[in-house]
Amino acid sequence: MFFDRTRNLFHSLAFRLTLWYALVFVLLAVTAFALFYLLIVRVIDQRTDTDLLTHANRLGQIYNLEGSEMLQRAALLQVQSVGEHKMFFRLFYATGIFYSSSNMAFWKNIATDRRAVDELLVQGRTHSYATQAIPDRPFKARVIYRRIGQSIMLQMGYSLEAETRLLQSFQRIFMITMVALLGLAVVVGGFMARRALAGVASVTRTARQISESDLETRVPVFHQHNEIDQLAVTFNQMLDRIQHLVAGIRQMNDNIAHDLRSPITRIRGLAEVTLGGADLGEYQSMAASTIEECDRLLHMINTMLTISRTEAGLDPKSFQRVDLSALAQEACTLFQPLAEDKGITLHIQAQSVCPVSGDASMLQRLLGNLIDNAIKYTPPGGRVRVGVACDANSVRLTVEDSGTGIAPEDHPKVFERFFRGDQSRSQDGAGLGLSLARVIARAHGGEIDLNSQPGQGSLFTVRLPMDANAVR
Ligand code: ADP
Repeated sequence: MFFDRTRNLFHSLAFRLTLWYALVFVLLAVTAFALFYLLIVRVIDQRTDTDLLTHANRLGQIYNLEGSEMLQRAALLQVQSVGEHKMFFRLFYATGIFYSSSNMAFWKNIATDRRAVDELLVQGRTHSYATQAIPDRPFKARVIYRRIGQSIMLQMGYSLEAETRLLQSFQRIFMITMVALLGLAVVVGGFMARRALAGVASVTRTARQISESDLETRVPVFHQHNEIDQLAVTFNQMLDRIQHLVAGIRQMNDNIAHDLRSPITRIRGLAEVTLGGADLGEYQSMAASTIEECDRLLHMINTMLTISRTEAGLDPKSFQRVDLSALAQEACTLFQPLAEDKGITLHIQAQSVCPVSGDASMLQRLLGNLIDNAIKYTPPGGRVRVGVACDANSVRLTVEDSGTGIAPEDHPKVFERFFRGDQSRSQDGAGLGLSLARVIARAHGGEIDLNSQPGQGSLFTVRLPMDANAVR
């Protein structure tokens, strides 16, 4: 349990963000310190070098004006005035033999720097510098080498003890500050990462809640217009869609159960009545009714299967060039007797050729369902008008009737599976005709619209893309 939590913590985004934040922070701080440190060292060196050169030049002048004796005395005075622990001087010949110096007890046998001496003797420079270790001392000395006259060399050194201490305390302060800043970086970084990811945590919580309970819960949106808000909005939209789909499936299940129960109850009732002492004629009539009910059930189940398959997409191989005008003419001819029986006038007005690319039998079913409904929901004496027209890119099919019409609140529902309007209960049907019509239109890249007012008839409009080969 503990190890699991620790592992989760190490893998968490918040932990990694904090780590990166602290790392970048430390890197920047170390770089800034290093630059600052180098600058201080440079300034100290420059200041010390200038001081040493001033002293050495003055001694050179004294030698030129007053000779070797005065040089030694002046150098000694100079060292004593600064302090024998702070400064020393030695005079030596080019051969390396020392002949005069200040008190060297503190400086022990400080060496002469070969490179610095060579710069004077070989390269002919007037002076050169070296930073040299002092035996048994924890700090160094900055030393100047200067030619005095033809054959004398002056070595004059300045202890860097104070500077070393200054730099050491600077390093100590930096270390303490760094530890404090690192702690602060971790706390601030952790806080910022947690704050930034709080939205993600709330999405995760909601998702967990949903899988455990219902689909009602939504992620809170704080309207700060940031990425987390976008995530929450997208997540909520996805939940809306899922909820809508699940509700649809539930509704469909209820409808299927309801629509199956009625015919089965009817079949059972017939069988029960017939069992209670019936003659052959009654048995025959029961068998005929059973067959009729079963046919209706089979028709309903087949239509449901066709809707599902069409929704999943039609086989492109079944697509061919279909003239919708001709197809509509044929359908009208087929429905003419039915319309006449009911005392309804059925007209068609179709442009000569309106080609679409599609599955002819499916388009026939679409037309059939729309014309059948128009006749079914129009009282005797009414009229039904079918129209086909096309422009450069699309074909428009309209089926208009002067029938009962549809209430505006039912417009979106009529295309749902198993929806049946109140006035249609007396009519034959399963509430699947318009659902099938819509999935067929969509499977052909088109759409179906409804325009209707109760008591004033209905107008169904199907728009399909023109057959690509026929587009001019
Ligand atoms: P069905 O006709 O089998 O009930 P449909 O899916 O074809 O199922 O139609 C769904 C509902 O839409 C019908 O029950 C009816 O209330 C309404 N409807 C469809 N077409 C028309 C129409 N032309 N006029 C009035 N109402 C219609």
